[in-house]
Amino acid sequence: MSAIDDGFRPPQLACAIARTNETTHDIIRSSFDRSPLFSGSIEGRGPRYCPSIEDKVRRFADRDGHQIFLEPESLTNALVYPNGVSTSLPEEVQLAFMRSISGLERVEIVRCGYAVEYEFVDPRTLSSTLETREIAGLFLAGQINGTTGYEEAAAQGLAAGLNAAAKALDLDSVRFDRRTSYIGVMIDDLTLQGVSEPYRMMTARAEYRLALRADNSTSRLGQQALAAHCVGDSRRAQIREHFEARGCSTWNMTPEGAADALYAPYLERQEREWTAVLGDRTVQIPANLDFRAIPGISNEMSERLSAARPETLDQASRVRGVTPAALSALYVAASRRAA
Ligand SMILES: Cc1cc2nc3c(=O)[nH]c(=O)nc-3n(C[C@H](O)[C@H](O)[C@H](O)COP(=O)(O)OP(=O)(O)OC[C@H]3O[C@@H](n4cnc5c(N)ncnc54)[C@H](O)[C@@H]3O)c2cc1C
Repeated sequence: MSAIDDGFRPPQLACAIARTNETTHDIIRSSFDRSPLFSGSIEGRGPRYCPSIEDKVRRFADRDGHQIFLEPESLTNALVYPNGVSTSLPEEVQLAFMRSISGLERVEIVRCGYAVEYEFVDPRTLSSTLETREIAGLFLAGQINGTTGYEEAAAQGLAAGLNAAAKALDLDSVRFDRRTSYIGVMIDDLTLQGVSEPYRMMTARAEYRLALRADNSTSRLGQQALAAHCVGDSRRAQIREHFEARGCSTWNMTPEGAADALYAPYLERQEREWTAVLGDRTVQIPANLDFRAIPGISNEMSERLSAARPETLDQASRVRGVTPAALSALYVAASRRAA
């Protein structure tokens, strides 16, 4: 996916798939009261997008099985990570349910699953450079800001690191915009809205997602990378060539290549819809509107909106955690109903 990919091809290992079954679920169900996630000894909400197996068995009771990816941990040892069965159940229950799975009858557990509850810093106390307002010069990135995920941590690490370096060197700060990067969407969401559950950067959170693509990353962020002095000589030359070839120095969402032309009508529609959302916040939301049925609105957004039941788009825009992308989809649905 990288614009500077030079053929990196790491050795590949087979990754098998296994599946839980009714026996597995019976074992898990009979031990619900022993899970700290359910017994009340852990109060925090787990990550929505990677629930524990006990959570999946309880929330999706109609399913007769859940997939497990058996991922080799290393090229040099025989350990396998069973992705999909994170759990906080007691050790003997873990062994019993794992051995109930076809293909894993003789499995040994080297390290048991566990749950941890951790504190985080309210990200609304950070500026968009990820510097804390309370302690100048202290920058925070990753899970400590209430996010979950490798990419979220890495992207914030980049933003916080660039800004810490810029501050130390007395250079301009580096701020990411929602219109030009997912990093911008995430930092904007975190620092303005805060988090009420572990935050994951879903593409659906970005109102400009059609324009945020791997194939135009140099156009979107190249100039910013040059200004932030964060690229080496060869990459700098490549970015300059890229802009010279296009005869422009900035990116303004107008079609510029083979790929942008392909998306052009959709980009234009996206821009039109978003301009309308910003311009007309008085749009009424019907009292019986089923948020779950609106295309483009995630479960998370429909839960927040259903709980708050805003009457206008303006009110919806002030519901905590509701993203601009969800507002845009809501605007389209509410306007259609009114028409
Ligand atoms: C079992 C498991 C599976 C996961 N699977 C996925 C997945 O498939 N995909 C995904 O995207 N995310 C996954 N995650 C989430 C992801 O791993 C984390 O959200 C991410 O690694 C957080 O990165 P971070 O840099 O914020 O924190 P961490 O990676 O926790 O880094 C914090 C570092 O600080 C160090 N530290 C702590 N205290 C001190 C101290 N006092 N002094 C010095 N150092 C200290 C710690 O040792 C640690 O190295 C998973 C998490 C777990 C636990």
